[in-house]
Amino acid sequence: MKAAVVTDFGKPLEILDRPTPEPGPGQVLVRMEASGLCHTDIHAAHGDWPVKPQPPFVPGHEGVGPVAALGAGVPKALLAKRVAVPWLGSSCGACRYCVPGWETLCESQANSGYSVDGCYAEYAVANAGAVVPVPDGVSSFDAAPLTCAGVTTYKAIKVARVVPFEATFKLKITDAAGRTAADVYVTATSGSGTRGTFDVTIPYRATRSGAGLLTAYWNSPEDGHAVVADTVPLTVQR
Ligand SMILES: [Zn+2]
Ligand SMILES: [Zn+2]
Repeated sequence: MKAAVVTDFGKPLEILDRPTPEPGPGQVLVRMEASGLCHTDIHAAHGDWPVKPQPPFVPGHEGVGPVAALGAGVPKALLAKRVAVPWLGSSCGACRYCVPGWETLCESQANSGYSVDGCYAEYAVANAGAVVPVPDGVSSFDAAPLTCAGVTTYKAIKVARVVPFEATFKLKITDAAGRTAADVYVTATSGSGTRGTFDVTIPYRATRSGAGLLTAYWNSPEDGHAVVADTVPLTVQR
């Protein structure tokens, strides 16, 4: 099969011929029809983060396509079903994070396109328990970016428990050089207007100390696009 491979950090991906992987016990082989590009894939290819993937590897964790083969122990009903392969490739299922449903924090997780080969290939293997069926009415191209970027935004809104008459704002925090330091979502009631006062708790890991700007966006009801609500100077201290 053809695969787009990171052969070394910071180099362009190379299209290489690789053996089509075989699904192991509990795994499925997915024939890729589409895969989104997440900025995490770029961080992976650049080796930007402290825990690095090991080149050569295949990035991609927004892949969608039909299940082409089943490993041992996988229900036959999954064969030929169209599924999405997400970032969370597997987790231990038994730790203090997995048990209450926060398996994305599991310290024993595997990640598609990072610690295991991902979706920038004609085929990818994935854990059958981690793939998500894609409804018939959603094209593979539409489903692919929903697999990471889409569910990330959806989860933020779900956890914020947004109800009618509330709006969720996206806050972009940039440093003095204009680089993005964090994206944060906050919820406000419509009664407070777009210039209300918000108490914002910024995730500690996402911030850098120093001066910058805090820009609030909200989704225009007319066209669904993010528009700038306000921009204020910001100083982050640790
Ligand atoms: Zn992603
Ligand atoms: Zn776990």
